[in-house]
Amino acid sequence: MENYENILNMLTVAQDLRRLGRIEIFDNRPSLSDLIGMAEGFGLKTSHYYINDRTDLLFSKDEEILEKAKDLHLNATEPVESNRTLGGFYNYPECCVQYFIDNLQHKLEEKKKNKNYDLMQETILGVKGDELPYWLNTFPGGNKFFFHLTCSYEGCKKTREIAERNSELMKKYDLADWERMRGGNLTTLKLEDGREIRFV
Ligand SMILES: [Zn+2]
Repeated sequence: MENYENILNMLTVAQDLRRLGRIEIFDNRPSLSDLIGMAEGFGLKTSHYYINDRTDLLFSKDEEILEKAKDLHLNATEPVESNRTLGGFYNYPECCVQYFIDNLQHKLEEKKKNKNYDLMQETILGVKGDELPYWLNTFPGGNKFFFHLTCSYEGCKKTREIAERNSELMKKYDLADWERMRGGNLTTLKLEDGREIRFV
């Protein structure tokens, strides 16, 4: 697995575009120690915790935010308020945080029914056209240019601004890595309803 999106994730925090970032690690790939080393290379402090079948690595310049965020991720007694606070730390668009909060209840109900519920899959079904820019491809196999669940692939202006800005950031940081990231995202996604979306 390549580390492009992890580099970009840390870069956005190192360059003060947001105060906090998080990487979810499954099966210790990439390894926690490698990612901590990478974060330190960017001048960031880290904290981590274990949740379900994964390890989450948090990184920030601010130790207090790291502690607060870890506590909110692990012991949230008020999920709505916790998500708003965390959304602020991560600098997620408010419309997308609200969308996530509105879908929390839905998620819990679907879980009880033992259904696989994937908000990202549901959101992409709202796309009317058949083409999206490569920097909006957040689907498996691609490289993420932004790190939140968007409220709308076509309609969220803030998501588009963040994704395009991050793409430019990566391009300036390392042109070859940016080209590989972009290349990996130029795919066609088959939707559940049979339509296809091309990322261009
Ligand atoms: Zn939004």
